[in-house]
Amino acid sequence: MQQTLVIFKPSAIGRGLTGRVLSRFEQKGLVIAGMKMMLLDEKILREHYAHLVSKPFFHEILDSMTASPVIVMVLRGVDAIEVVRLMTGSTNGRNALPGTIRGDFAMSNQENIIHASSSPEDAEVEINRFFKPGEIFDYSRADRGFVYGPSEI
Ligand code: ADP
Repeated sequence: MQQTLVIFKPSAIGRGLTGRVLSRFEQKGLVIAGMKMMLLDEKILREHYAHLVSKPFFHEILDSMTASPVIVMVLRGVDAIEVVRLMTGSTNGRNALPGTIRGDFAMSNQENIIHASSSPEDAEVEINRFFKPGEIFDYSRADRGFVYGPSEI
């Protein structure tokens, strides 16, 4: 099983999309292993978006990601990192395929509803950035036997 980090950005919270987006992950069969609401600050955002700190639009990312609390979440499942990235869609909501979260809910490159870890290495670092070990729970959903075949888990 893999774990991946998802952030429901202020664009999801402010547009009242939290429940609808969370439903997609639940109906897919992913396990919510951890979930909490928090306010992000510049320090954690400079770490999280270190690859974008030198971009001219970085201050817009800071403003956008601190506009309201966010919900951070750890989702667990077989190949969860790739599955959640596929469900998320490409960065710019205008290019993201219909059926993806950004494709269905976003018209923006910046205000694109959620963050999702992009690789196993990133997922591990990002989960540790936002969660303490005691905040992630190891349990199975009751429908596990219908979500996966026996050789998949
Ligand atoms: P992704 O979130 O798809 O992994 P990136 O890591 O490239 O994409 O970018 C992180 C976030 O920074 C994006 O989700 C988006 O909110 C913001 N961002 C990226 N590029 C731009 C841009 N050109 N203008 C404004 N915001 C951007």
